[in-house]
Amino acid sequence: MSKNPDDRGPEPAGKTKLSLRRADRTGTTEGAAPWPVLVVDDDSDVHSMTRVLLRDFSFQGKGFEVISAMSGAEARAILGRRSDIPVMLLDVVMETPDAGLSLIRHVRDDLGNRRLAIVLRTGQPGEAPERDVMLAYDINDYRSKTELTAQKLFTSLIGGLRSWIHLSTIEAMASTLERRVTERTCQLDEARRFAESLVELLPNPLWFKDPDGSLRLYNRAFREMFAVGDEDWHGRPSSDTLPEPLAGLDQLADQSLNLGGSGGLAFETSIDRQGVTRTLMVNKGVVRSDCRDKPDEPIGTIGIVTDITERKRMESQLRHLATTDELTGCLNRRAFFAAAEQELERSGRYGGSVSVLMIDIDHFKQVNDRHGHAVGDQALRAATAAIRANLREIDCFGRLGGEEFAAMLPETPLAGALQVAERLRQAVAAIALPLGDGEAPLRLTTSLGVAERTEADGGLDQILARADTALYRAKAAGRNRVLA
Ligand code: GH3
Ligand code: MG
Ligand code: MG
Repeated sequence: MSKNPDDRGPEPAGKTKLSLRRADRTGTTEGAAPWPVLVVDDDSDVHSMTRVLLRDFSFQGKGFEVISAMSGAEARAILGRRSDIPVMLLDVVMETPDAGLSLIRHVRDDLGNRRLAIVLRTGQPGEAPERDVMLAYDINDYRSKTELTAQKLFTSLIGGLRSWIHLSTIEAMASTLERRVTERTCQLDEARRFAESLVELLPNPLWFKDPDGSLRLYNRAFREMFAVGDEDWHGRPSSDTLPEPLAGLDQLADQSLNLGGSGGLAFETSIDRQGVTRTLMVNKGVVRSDCRDKPDEPIGTIGIVTDITERKRMESQLRHLATTDELTGCLNRRAFFAAAEQELERSGRYGGSVSVLMIDIDHFKQVNDRHGHAVGDQALRAATAAIRANLREIDCFGRLGGEEFAAMLPETPLAGALQVAERLRQAVAAIALPLGDGEAPLRLTTSLGVAERTEADGGLDQILARADTALYRAKAAGRNRVLA
């Protein structure tokens, strides 16, 4: 047994190549790289014997390539370069009595190579306490060199290879898993950042609360609208930041949603902000879990505010424009008809009496002709104000066109309506519109026709037609009077 690694150095390398060719010739898979087997031993006979023994073997269609190291030091150099070697057949005593054992420590601890299957081979049985070594060192097998018949070597080698393959598979799976977890974490992180940016940029105040009502998320618009300063409000009850009555309504909405409300709900409320009342539309939605262990359980609720103050103002402005006569400010023709129809239907249900008046200014054309259209407009406004001042809140009053007006008087029989009409005639007659330049003030007279709803009336048109006929007769009778 030679102990000089320098003498034996080049020889195993050459034999490795020879062995490779043999393996290729002995029916192994064409072109597939053989399994590298590192033989570490200071006895060159062990190398050549191993090579001979392995020559005709193959595993999974691949032969074996013996890589020789004549010392622990040489093995360290090889293993430092190559991490693809699955099995090492290792001598215990080489350049030092524990060269083999310290190589094991080096492989496992310094190189961190846990996959390499190590078959420890001792020349002299009893040279090292086998059981203790098996326990103390991370090795796969312990054999006496005398045991190394072809069959035993092969069995030992296959055991090592299998262990290497299993560990490699586990390592590959673990690293794939780790990569996937990293990727997924990154994706989740990106999705979270996207959602946070989106929420932050939204022009509408938005907040998210967990089921116990603590704020978890809110955006810049929320901070601005509810004057939430630098202080961190996360985790605090929303009632600390939301003003009443919004806070209370919000809580009620959460309760209803958490109790099993489906999509969401909306409510309107108003808050006082810097002395100005703002009308808010609040949309609430519940977020439910998709996790298998708590399906559909509420995770929290989202609230989003739209300031509808302007919209409300414009809506009411539009409604006003659509129903009001621009010149006089009373109901326009369409709005009068709508209101009168409604009133007629209501009083029809309760069986009360209803009367209508048709009012027309006398010789109004002359007013325009003599004093101009602007004075005519002024006169129309003055007449409207005088009539209105003499009607009740519940009466409907509108301008049907030109200098013609109509009124509907609920709960008023004909006699009462005649009195009202007379009062209106006098009120308009009392107007004295100053014209300036020493001219006498403008005076107006009106003719009025009155009709009461009867059982026979089909609708508003019929009652108005009767009042119009009465008005026509009042005109014909000389104007400035009331007729029924
Ligand atoms: P009668 O006593 O028969 O009712 O005679 P009248 O002149 O009042 O009646 P007529 O229907 O002949 O004329 C109505 C006039 O009212 C015609 C028009 O110049 C005037 N007029 C209608 N609408 C307006 C308005 O918005 N402003 C002004 N200044 N005049 C109007
Ligand atoms: Mg007229
Ligand atoms: Mg007229």
